[in-house]
Amino acid sequence: MSNHKMPERHAFTLFDTIIDTIRGTRKLTEDQVRVLHELLGTLILDALNFLDNEAVIRHQCGPEAKRIAYSIADGERTVLCFIYPRYCSCDSFVSKTLCQRSELMCCHVLAAILYDALDHNQPKRIWDEDSFGELLFDWTVPA
Ligand SMILES: [Zn+2]
Repeated sequence: MSNHKMPERHAFTLFDTIIDTIRGTRKLTEDQVRVLHELLGTLILDALNFLDNEAVIRHQCGPEAKRIAYSIADGERTVLCFIYPRYCSCDSFVSKTLCQRSELMCCHVLAAILYDALDHNQPKRIWDEDSFGELLFDWTVPA
């Protein structure tokens, strides 16, 4: 875990700039990983692990993707998160990001953001409005 305590706003701006660059090139360089590690500590390693293991799936509501959620298979459980707004159903996000404000985000949201920025051509699931609503209501993803 990095001990750098950057002012939150500055850290977010820097993070967004890096993600924009990744989105522009569809590539993640070692330098970017290094800066992300400074900002987020070991969360970046967890997130990259999820990507390597193809643990991220994009779920969209309707073919035009009016709403988008991401599921991440994390060991025994699958968590669901959003990029806009940044939100995750895991304990770490609720305690460390929302309550203590000690982390910018959790490893799941980070994995979803990187997945989106890198535009992985990996499986996505398209749901109709009702099923998507149920997905969000239950916060679980049916197999
Ligand atoms: Zn999470």
